[in-house]
Amino acid sequence: MTVLFSELLVPGWAEGENAKIGLDAVTGIYGDEQAFSLPCHNSSPEIYFSEKSDEIALAKSLCGGCPVKRECLKGALSRQEPCGVWGGELFEEGKVIAQKRTPGRPRLNRELIGA
Ligand code: SF4
Repeated sequence: MTVLFSELLVPGWAEGENAKIGLDAVTGIYGDEQAFSLPCHNSSPEIYFSEKSDEIALAKSLCGGCPVKRECLKGALSRQEPCGVWGGELFEEGKVIAQKRTPGRPRLNRELIGA
């Protein structure tokens, strides 16, 4: 996956000639100068798409101070973002999730086995 935060490019989500989607298109309220003062522009883009819980927590906390957090979250929900931290929330397959699943055997679902 390639993600450029100055011009969001997420293959699979935005395809074709218009694959580069500027932040103004994402939130609808950015001017050029404001876009580069966002917390996600002043930190490593990797943490917003990390698999590590400590980096995800850092990304979420940085979003906490973002002036457009609400609009960012609303946009991510409407686009059904496939992954990443948007608006202070972690997304997976278009939905907000509490945390990444750790690798390994899934938890036992006691309801399914009637226990
Ligand atoms: S809420 Fe987070 S991901 Fe969205 S623009 Fe602000 S810092 Fe970036």
